[in-house]
Amino acid sequence: MNEPTDPLDDIPRLKTSTGDRRSHSQARATHELLQLADQCVKCGLCLPHCPTFQQARQEADSPRGRIALIQGWAGGHLAMTPTLAGHLDGCLGCLNCERVCPSEVAYGRIADQAKALRTAALPAPRRTLMRLALGALSNARLMGRFARVPRLYRRLGLARLAELLGLDRIHALRPYHRMATAMGAVARPIAPRNPERANIDLFLGCMGSAAEGRAVEATLKVAARLNLRICIVSPDTCCGAMFRHNGLPAEADAQRDACVRVHGERPLVGLASACIAELRGDPTLRDTLELCAFLDGVEWPQTLRIRPDRRRVLVHEPCSHRNQLGGNAAVHRLLKRIPGLAVAPMPPGQGCCGAAGTYLLRHPVMAEALLADLLAPVRLDTPDVIVTTNPGCALHLAAGVRKAGLDIAVLHPVELIAAALGPEP
Ligand code: SF4
Ligand code: SF4
Repeated sequence: MNEPTDPLDDIPRLKTSTGDRRSHSQARATHELLQLADQCVKCGLCLPHCPTFQQARQEADSPRGRIALIQGWAGGHLAMTPTLAGHLDGCLGCLNCERVCPSEVAYGRIADQAKALRTAALPAPRRTLMRLALGALSNARLMGRFARVPRLYRRLGLARLAELLGLDRIHALRPYHRMATAMGAVARPIAPRNPERANIDLFLGCMGSAAEGRAVEATLKVAARLNLRICIVSPDTCCGAMFRHNGLPAEADAQRDACVRVHGERPLVGLASACIAELRGDPTLRDTLELCAFLDGVEWPQTLRIRPDRRRVLVHEPCSHRNQLGGNAAVHRLLKRIPGLAVAPMPPGQGCCGAAGTYLLRHPVMAEALLADLLAPVRLDTPDVIVTTNPGCALHLAAGVRKAGLDIAVLHPVELIAAALGPEP
């Protein structure tokens, strides 16, 4: 009798960019990737919703084009040249395409799995370097200490000095200068706290201190006025998105498993829509809530006095909030509690501000072009405040507003609520 054969034995062991044949597990992953990509019927209905296609007007920078390139490469018909890699890496991961696709193509999974295969094909020393660099960037304690750097950059006037010397116009330095300056305004040290009978765990993630410090202070103030007890655990955790989107899914899973171990016992609430979307990928953390949705759902004391605020506010909706968390209606409901506040949705521009995690550092030209489109109508009718629920978007927006010389505050919605509650009685 013949031995049963593995159906994957028929899959050709493709040569990788390093000349090695793909291992059996890689062949299996390739097979799965091609099956996912085959769901795309190439109708093109996603193209008008893709920010990079809108900017570049090239098929290779569209979801359909990228899927076709992945099929060509994974099927062994195309080599992973720098040009091909550039088209794939130019994707923002916004998932606008996934939301509008009538065939329900899982574009996010396709992009992540293709990246994982590409990373697996890299020489071992390069993979190790990637692991170390991403591990440092997603280390909450390290990033918490790093948060002092942008604060000093801004406080000591180094940001102004860099601008006077024209360093901010040097292509390679510009995105770092913009980020450090924007971070300098929001970075705060955050102390762990573990009150008795805490109602919720607050998820800070790796960038909590560096990018959300001011919003966390506002959250603690609002929570106190609503008689909520918040736990901020130490050691801090990271959702793992940085590893996942850079082709290291095992490391991403390990970080999310650590979140389950630390937070799995209590209700979890986070300020960053992108982190929450990532956490919800784990069954134990599926009920993780975005802060505004949480605050919208709890009972507010009848005696709570909310002061009027006559400012005009535009509500920016991050891609992760729109495409993965089902939209930001709770933000609008929450802000309606403030008497006098004029709240309107921000016109979406090309559908993404261009921040997209570390995208704004790796692709500053595209990131700035998308931001310019988003801010174009804002420049004509300037609001007092823009609110957003993702810290990466907030930093990018703040940098763009500053560069355009506009007098607009960029805040998390909870900061407006905290201001309207006034000082402790
Ligand atoms: S991803 Fe979906 S919408 Fe886009 S071309 Fe493929 S099937 Fe059509
Ligand atoms: S994730 Fe966003 S940028 Fe990437 S292909 Fe889809 S729509 Fe375009």
